[in-house]
Amino acid sequence: MQSVKGYSRKKSPWILHFSCSGCNGCTIEELASLTPRYDIERFGALFRGSPRHADILIVDGVINKKVAKRLKRIYEQMPEPKVVMAVGACATGLGVFRGNYGLEGPLEKVLPVDVSVAGCPPKPESIMDGLLKAVQILGKKK
Ligand code: SF4
Repeated sequence: MQSVKGYSRKKSPWILHFSCSGCNGCTIEELASLTPRYDIERFGALFRGSPRHADILIVDGVINKKVAKRLKRIYEQMPEPKVVMAVGACATGLGVFRGNYGLEGPLEKVLPVDVSVAGCPPKPESIMDGLLKAVQILGKKK
């Protein structure tokens, strides 16, 4: 049987957004999903500033060697269960930065990725679709 805490977290996922070293195009689309036109908060999703309060980690941009360590630390600070969502071609497969010497790799090399959203940048509709998948996975992990 699901606990009240588990049920409420499933219905109102709190999100931490972490932008790595991309061009910020993905970040702009993620922020667009918060605007009244898309209104991602109608699904109960709230963006938070602390990993200790977050259920879902959304990462965009390419993962360079410097940011990889910090990203791991942020992931470790999130409470279980947690879901990782890679947004955009950079996070899922290096994108236009492929071949750069300073890269650690795609996000899946650094963290266990649960949901990947394709696009450069993905549209807010794709990001919202990815978020709904992330919520379903979060529900199964409880
Ligand atoms: S996937 Fe495209 S839009 Fe997103 S950060 Fe990379 S280059 Fe920019």
